[in-house]
Amino acid sequence: MAGAILSGIAVSTGIAIGPCLFLKQETQNLRHSLVPLDQVEQEVRRLEQAIDKAADSFEAARLTLHPGQKLQWDLLTSQLMICRDSKLGGSAARSIREQRMNAEWALEECVTRLADTFSRLSSPYIRERIDDVRLVANRIQARLANAASYPRPEKGGSIILAPDLTPADLAAFPGGHLTAFAVEQGGPTSHIGILARGLRTPALVGVLGLSEKAPQAREAIVDGLHGRLLLDPDPEEVAVYLALRERLTEYEKRVRADAALPAETVDGERVDILANLESGGEITDMRSCGAEGAGLVRTEFSYIARTALPEEDDLYKEYMDMARSVYPHKIAFRTFDAGGDKIIGSRKGPLEKNPALGLRGIRFSLHHQDMFRSQLRAILRAGVMGNAALIFPLISGLEELKLAKSLLNEAKQELGAEKIPYARDLPLGIMVELPSTVLISDILAREVDFFSIGTNDLTQYSLGVDRDNRQVEYLTRAIHPAIVRSIKLVVDNAHAAGIPVCVCGELAADLYCLPLLIGMRVDEISLAPQSIPTVKHLIRKMRASNCREMLREALSAPGGAMIDNMARQALYSSFPEDSDFFACRPDADIA
Ligand code: PEP
Ligand code: MG
Repeated sequence: MAGAILSGIAVSTGIAIGPCLFLKQETQNLRHSLVPLDQVEQEVRRLEQAIDKAADSFEAARLTLHPGQKLQWDLLTSQLMICRDSKLGGSAARSIREQRMNAEWALEECVTRLADTFSRLSSPYIRERIDDVRLVANRIQARLANAASYPRPEKGGSIILAPDLTPADLAAFPGGHLTAFAVEQGGPTSHIGILARGLRTPALVGVLGLSEKAPQAREAIVDGLHGRLLLDPDPEEVAVYLALRERLTEYEKRVRADAALPAETVDGERVDILANLESGGEITDMRSCGAEGAGLVRTEFSYIARTALPEEDDLYKEYMDMARSVYPHKIAFRTFDAGGDKIIGSRKGPLEKNPALGLRGIRFSLHHQDMFRSQLRAILRAGVMGNAALIFPLISGLEELKLAKSLLNEAKQELGAEKIPYARDLPLGIMVELPSTVLISDILAREVDFFSIGTNDLTQYSLGVDRDNRQVEYLTRAIHPAIVRSIKLVVDNAHAAGIPVCVCGELAADLYCLPLLIGMRVDEISLAPQSIPTVKHLIRKMRASNCREMLREALSAPGGAMIDNMARQALYSSFPEDSDFFACRPDADIA
């Protein structure tokens, strides 16, 4: 009997068909009981065995990774170390012995205690590790309950369905065992989507009703084009999707074959297409996708995967390796952007009531200057390759930018005094992600070498829509005129000051927005490698003069729906042979 069809937001394209696993939250319904005195040692052994099994699962997952999956390797190593750390097991065992708590209860108590201690530490980096501790404890709890919550996925891979997944959860799946995933939480620019694209895994977020309908499902189809999840599909649905998947594969092969060609419109306007990277492991993929450099390296990803704060030399080595691999193309390192929906902000805790408006981006770095200084020095040193650039995230105004620049200058002076080679003229850019930055972009343009527009945050802060909140996601479905006007203003101010502009939020991969960006004459577009071949392919079919006409209409449009319809029509009528393979908006119908 056929099951349900649920709609969600496609965050990573592709079609997956096959067996599925539902991951329930292990901490629900934990059993609390007092252990009889004569069974205390037995209970401690039960705990130790669960810890061993959980450690084995981290170890096994680690062994299945391929060399490019450095981020996952580091995350799993960190989780393995926490699992084996006596602070967790030892203190839970003490609670069993001294207070006769059962193992589940003792473990939960221990995590609560650790969370409390961590939350009082001044280093946000250490505070954020509590989420890893929670994940490890959950994994041990699952072993204690003998729960099927983390059953081994099928050899050929499984589709994972869950109320929510963290990046650490994703990393814990053995390489090749995750064919796709769908979660109930999250919005189109959530962190988890960014990772899914990096992993080239079809993915849906914000799938309403998933927790209710998915637990019994055995098979599923994840449609990462139209944002659909089909549970226990019938044979006809499977046949339709097998055919669509085949056509999609064919299409991707075709556009990939031309990926090395420049993105130049029919009437001769060129835009450079670069890649957004989360780790060095993606560089090979980026090259084969036709990226002409790395427009944005989200350096915070390499911090989360470590068990201790990285030293300047570790960072230098990492950045240097990346700069060397990308050479002679450009690589723009963005300094650590924590907070908001990012790593630290996503870690629950009584840190900030409103993390998206709190200590994130450059504010975080300016509050933790030692960490910032090591990173600046590492990037400056990697700059000797001659192809690196530096970006400050979430700059809100001139004073903040000047302060960050003064720390950059200090780092340069220190390196000079220590006779360590560094790039004296490392190009400096800022992320334009806040309405305040947009409005004074004429002033800020005089202070930097380039702008990088982060449309994920620009949308979040301009429309007041949490990028991770499914309930308000509908407000971002259409292209809001305020966003079009903001980008246009920034591009015009940058060009008037003679500096280039890169657009590097998810909007850059939104095919409805692409003609508008071309119409504005943005200099660079930086996006997930996965999207690059299609974007280049379409730009080569576009006419810049038509894009400009469309932009004119969009700039005077009163509402987003109008712009969206216009963009949709233009795209579907101009490129009918490609239109089946555009990732659709959540409410769009299957073609
Ligand atoms: C953005 O905000 O659009 C951006 C590119 O940065 P991130 O998604 O990493 O916040
Ligand atoms: Mg951002």
